[in-house]
Amino acid sequence: MSLRWQQRLTERQRQRQQLGLWRSRPLLTSAPGARVQVNGQWLINFASNDYLGLAESPDLPLLAQGLHQQAGKAGSTASHVLAGHHLPHHLLEDELADWLGVERVLLFSSGYLANLAAQTALLQDGDALYHDKLNHASLLDGARLSSARFQRYAHNDMEALARRLAQPTEGLTMVVTDGVFSMDGDAVCLGKMLSLVAEQDGLLVVDEAHSFGVLGEQGRGLFAHQQQAADASVLRVGTLGKAFASSGAFIAGSGLLIDSIAQWGRSYIYTTAQPPYQASFSRAALRLLAGEVGEAARLKLDELIAVFRQGAQALGLSLLPSSTPIQPILLGSNERALAWQAKLWQSGFWLPAIRPPTVAQGTARLRVSLSAGHSVEQIESLLTALAACQREEGVCA
Ligand SMILES: *Cc1c(COP(=O)(O)O)cnc(C)c1O
Repeated sequence: MSLRWQQRLTERQRQRQQLGLWRSRPLLTSAPGARVQVNGQWLINFASNDYLGLAESPDLPLLAQGLHQQAGKAGSTASHVLAGHHLPHHLLEDELADWLGVERVLLFSSGYLANLAAQTALLQDGDALYHDKLNHASLLDGARLSSARFQRYAHNDMEALARRLAQPTEGLTMVVTDGVFSMDGDAVCLGKMLSLVAEQDGLLVVDEAHSFGVLGEQGRGLFAHQQQAADASVLRVGTLGKAFASSGAFIAGSGLLIDSIAQWGRSYIYTTAQPPYQASFSRAALRLLAGEVGEAARLKLDELIAVFRQGAQALGLSLLPSSTPIQPILLGSNERALAWQAKLWQSGFWLPAIRPPTVAQGTARLRVSLSAGHSVEQIESLLTALAACQREEGVCA
């Protein structure tokens, strides 16, 4: 490598480390679950998005094997539009569509790719695209790749959105938002958004990565939870790697919208379809998640969220207004977030420090992800460990 390349990369890495922004990859050597072995140490896991605890379910792999006809075969061998669209993919799409009550569902290999396609396939030059400021990075990248005029509005601020929407535009309008925000845990108010978007004859795209499976009757997500109908001008993006404990993602909506995404979504067309077995696994996860197993998990989760919030508030920790399993503890500086992360790790708890650019400067936090796989005792012992972090800071100050 040339000296100039070496110097550039070495210097950038050094700065990142100095700013407390270096990202490392903890190595898991156990199966996923509420307790995991990480870098050789057993920890209680508050870092996963396995909200329903399905990752540990013994029924899930059994059910998946029963549904899968092509045992032992791995790859899909092509894109969905060539030779890669297999029966398990097709059945999964139909079952997801039935579950949500939509005309059509399109399966993707990841939520990142789905979020690129939802925007790039539909938007054209001259269109107006509005995003919540805290939208997930994959949505932001979709906006950057689209040819629309792109603006962001203040987080969850419907008056700010209304002002944006009042601007004249020659083209069509799309509004894109996380349903439940991935690093804050709060949710959008769909009723208000739907009426604002309808006034402009716009499309609304809601990323339900953290709400499908978790919220609403049968885990049908934020629309069910807030008792709103998702009409033909709504697209919903779901991921299969979180509450579904599988992998992949999907977009749900009207036939007209979904067919257009399948025609023009480059991140749909130019990538290999996920392994068919993965789709069978997701079909099994859907059955559990929409049924009694999911119902029980959602009730348990509500209980754990209440236990955590009450305990954390009693300690005076800085929480955000979240009623979802995403419960951030605001700490401010990167150094403080890293120090708490390290201290908790020593005590046997894994809470990831979330730092810029994932969150705004000065709002570094620990992101607590609760799961129905946790026990009340595990939450209580976490609260004890958090209290110890506070005491230690008090001594240092
Ligand atoms: C995780 C996540 C994604 C990306 O989904 P993957 O399947 O992991 O690529 C998209 N949006 C949000 C809000 C997410 O949290």
